[in-house]
Amino acid sequence: MPTIPDSQSKYGRAITVYGASASGLDEVFHRAARQLAVEAVRHNIAVITGGGTQGMMGTVNDTVIEHGGTTIGIIPQFMVDKGWGHKGLTFTEVTDGMHSRKALMAKLSVGVIALPGGVGTMDELMEIITWRQLGLFKGNVVMLNVDGYWDDLLAMLATAEKRGFMRKGADSVLWHVTTDPAEALTLAISNM
Ligand code: AMP
Repeated sequence: MPTIPDSQSKYGRAITVYGASASGLDEVFHRAARQLAVEAVRHNIAVITGGGTQGMMGTVNDTVIEHGGTTIGIIPQFMVDKGWGHKGLTFTEVTDGMHSRKALMAKLSVGVIALPGGVGTMDELMEIITWRQLGLFKGNVVMLNVDGYWDDLLAMLATAEKRGFMRKGADSVLWHVTTDPAEALTLAISNM
């Protein structure tokens, strides 16, 4: 079992799962979110999310709770004030803003997984890849490519590499891609 650095010991081994807050998504996305949540519980890994109730984030939180796992919601005060926070989480950390939220998510995680999502998820994903590039985040970054959702973003990243905006071979160092929720979990916890 990999050693847990002090900063991560508060909640044991935890991963962050980024994912859509939007509702009305195709069932294929929710199915993957549920499978990922079940895998995390099976491996006794706590799951950190943005602490919301909606979309894939809500599905991950609800499924982890249903299966007796640990959920940690990291949510800014203004979202709590709007009533967006999930009330049934094991732990909730309230931050003063979006930046401190993302920093705390990274600090508490041995690795991160991005489920499909909109700009909020893309922002979180691009920032954590940047932090990994700078050596500020040491865990693995995994894109769970459900139903080809991340294909266009991966093509953009390939263009950035091809045209010299990113180091050659960045894809093998900075992020992993899989279509399998179980493999996503294994990859996310395999670096620390
Ligand atoms: P999006 O992909 O644009 O739906 O944004 C989802 C991401 O942004 C999640 O991973 C959360 O961290 C954060 N986020 C956006 N909306 C909410 C919300 N209503 N409640 C909690 N977190 C949210």
